[in-house]
Amino acid sequence: MKTAKPSQDTAALHANNAAAHDHAHAHDDAHEAHDHGHAHGHDHAHGHFAAGGASLESALEMAEAYCRERGEKLTPIRRKVLELLLASGRATKAYSLLDEMRQIHPGSAPPTVYRALDFLLSAGLIHRIESINAFAVCHDLTQCQHGILVVCQQCGNVTELDEPKLRQALVAQIEAAGYRLSGDGIELKGVCAQCQANEQASAEGAKAAAHS
Ligand SMILES: [Zn+2]
Ligand SMILES: [Zn+2]
Repeated sequence: MKTAKPSQDTAALHANNAAAHDHAHAHDDAHEAHDHGHAHGHDHAHGHFAAGGASLESALEMAEAYCRERGEKLTPIRRKVLELLLASGRATKAYSLLDEMRQIHPGSAPPTVYRALDFLLSAGLIHRIESINAFAVCHDLTQCQHGILVVCQQCGNVTELDEPKLRQALVAQIEAAGYRLSGDGIELKGVCAQCQANEQASAEGAKAAAHS
């Protein structure tokens, strides 16, 4: 872990601060209305990041406040990369992020995107998803207490199981076996519900085709 885990009390305090921060901005409503279509779709598919149901904009503000507390800055480029990942709602490859950046800033060079990703990784705001070589937003943008990642190997859908006891028990067993984890992430490979349904549908389609 790169970040010290805050105690439960601090965690509650952080959550309150984030809420207070949101209320302090009278213009948030306008932002939310503006972002609604976008954020809504995201929440439906992957409502698991930070303050469940928070809009894209308030998630970004939370990340900004978190960086400020750490004495770091969520620069416009870093913020944009985080925003692209939040909007995608699933694990996304670096080159897709670069493509999207180039649509906004035509001159974007790969190192710009990689440096932003490195910063977001070291801040604990995103995860490197090793099984599919992609990046995804952490479920917990304000405290960055990582859970256990379950990654759909077909579509990049990521769910972060927020089970601190399960995680601790697993880490304890790993250490008892004489190992330490070589990264922050505990990543499990899976196939998401949507992809299972698609598999089912195409298997049935093939069966029907064979019968006709
Ligand atoms: Zn995480
Ligand atoms: Zn999937």
